[in-house]
Amino acid sequence: MMLNYDYPLYRPPSEADSLIFQVTLGCSFNECSFCDMYRSKQYSERSWDEVKAEIDMMAKMLPDTKRIFLADGDALNLSVEYMQKIVKYLREKFQNLERISCYAMPMNVLKKTPEELKLLRESGLDMFYLGIETGSDLILKKVTKGATSVTMIRAIKKAMDAGYIMSCMIILGLGGKTHSKEHIRGTAEVINATAPHYVGALTLYLENGIKDEFMTKFGEPFIPVSDHDALDELEDLISQIDVKNNVIFRANHGSNAYTIKGTFPQDKQMMQEKISWMKQHPEVIRPVGLRGF
Ligand code: SF4
Repeated sequence: MMLNYDYPLYRPPSEADSLIFQVTLGCSFNECSFCDMYRSKQYSERSWDEVKAEIDMMAKMLPDTKRIFLADGDALNLSVEYMQKIVKYLREKFQNLERISCYAMPMNVLKKTPEELKLLRESGLDMFYLGIETGSDLILKKVTKGATSVTMIRAIKKAMDAGYIMSCMIILGLGGKTHSKEHIRGTAEVINATAPHYVGALTLYLENGIKDEFMTKFGEPFIPVSDHDALDELEDLISQIDVKNNVIFRANHGSNAYTIKGTFPQDKQMMQEKISWMKQHPEVIRPVGLRGF
């Protein structure tokens, strides 16, 4: 018997093999104009009785679980006390656990004190996935992200200071053709200011249900970037990233036309050379039919 999930259910690609517990449903913000993941759900928090029953059941079925992801969209919205209770219980029931992670909105990191973040970290919460999306304040406003480049930087630094592994996402094409340069400049600035452990680049894909809202909120004609433009953005981003600490960079998400990965700072030149090569070999592009979000 498997868990009775409340669909749709999302998790980061790197949590594909993780055991997922839905400790919350939906997203408490649910207003980013490019994201329709939880539009069909009203945000709610699952009761301890429900969560505990699922943990007890899965601890019997999959006692050797190594990784757990806490869903849905912003489990860090739970109170510190409740999150600590869940994380501690998971650590007690799954003795071979290596990592517990969840999505985290900048706001949910910032509203916790450094002590509270450390408490959760010491209780066994290891990693946050945080969507930077873009470091451009202009575009963040147009896509109603509910955060600025400054709040992004503060949240990432605060979480890293408390000992969390940070995996951040950015979205190629989010500013369209008009704001492409601004998008990449701001995004590189946020990455350079924070040097998260991981940065993943996705490509904008607007589901039909969200397109009109996105276009209206954008406030000006939105001109989508082409695959070639997205590769230019990737090239510009890589050339503008300048970090001393290691940043594992991946642009291998299913939404991307081109795939590239490497670790900054040592692989920067290799990635730049690979992009130059890809520009000469457009046949390596991922066919549109094989892309997905
Ligand atoms: S991008 Fe994240 S914060 Fe924004 S609506 Fe989607 S799940 Fe919520």
